Amino acid sequence: MAKIIVQMLVESVKMELPDVKTVRLQWPEGYESEFKTGQFITLYWPHKPKYKRAYSLSSCALDRGHFEVTVKRDGKMGTSIVDWIEAGDSLFVIPPTGRFLPVFDPPGKHLICVAGGSGVTPFRGFAREATERNLSTRITILYTVRTPADIIFAEEFRELAARNPRVKFHVTCTRLAPENLWDGRRGRITPDWVKSFVDDPAETVFYACGTNAMVEAVEHLVMQDLGLPKEQMKTEKWG
Ligand SMILES: Cc1cc2nc3c(=O)[nH]c(=O)nc-3n(C[C@H](O)[C@H](O)[C@H](O)COP(=O)(O)OP(=O)(O)OC[C@H]3O[C@@H](n4cnc5c(N)ncnc54)[C@H](O)[C@@H]3O)c2cc1C
Repeated sequence: MAKIIVQMLVESVKMELPDVKTVRLQWPEGYESEFKTGQFITLYWPHKPKYKRAYSLSSCALDRGHFEVTVKRDGKMGTSIVDWIEAGDSLFVIPPTGRFLPVFDPPGKHLICVAGGSGVTPFRGFAREATERNLSTRITILYTVRTPADIIFAEEFRELAARNPRVKFHVTCTRLAPENLWDGRRGRITPDWVKSFVDDPAETVFYACGTNAMVEAVEHLVMQDLGLPKEQMKTEKWG
């Protein structure tokens, strides 16, 4: 199907957290999309056609009939979507594009996916597709949030990890009060922490998604500290 811009009905919405919402956009009749997991769509409101913003798909290529995006209340577009959008509304959708794609072929790669805050959204698609297809690809998600209350898809990632032993989900919290009972890791993502997950550098592909600063720090770690080539590092910078 041609890459045309279409108006899509909001089929449903789900508050993942008090400031994060998943929006399911229904494909109109006859619409087909040969998109890939990890790509993003660009959205705009019918009454604001000049204001367009990109959103990574949090659904995966196996999900047909709709796109899902997961949006944080941030800035104009993020706030308008989280605070206002509801089932029955509609948005214009510029079709999926992007090269932030999981390497599932050849099989057996280890994808180390580093995310900050809402930057975890495309990795939901990675883990879902690999699990549904029972792929031999290993997916390790290293996720930095301020507190456990900021973890998006906490339940879903834990379920995927329980179903698929090749999916691992590790969280580090950066702003916890000392008395907080969180028994997971604390502190920022460090080179040593990331390196501790690398067992076979040649078969590892790194992904980083989130703020420019976080993504650039991971790029530096992979290319300078680990000395891996650019081809083994994929980035999605959100600004
Ligand atoms: C490829 C790609 C994929 C993306 N995927 C997602 C996704 O899956 N989920 C998601 O939530 N976002 C995603 N984003 C970000 C998204 O496109 C929007 O940028 C985001 O929702 C903020 O909306 P906005 O650009 O209208 O914000 P703007 O209003 O343009 O603001 C941009 C930033 O500036 C800050 N800001 C605005 N005004 C001020 C001020 N006066 N003082 C200080 N700071 C200010 C805002 O908090 C915000 O962080 C993605 C971006 C890209 C490029």
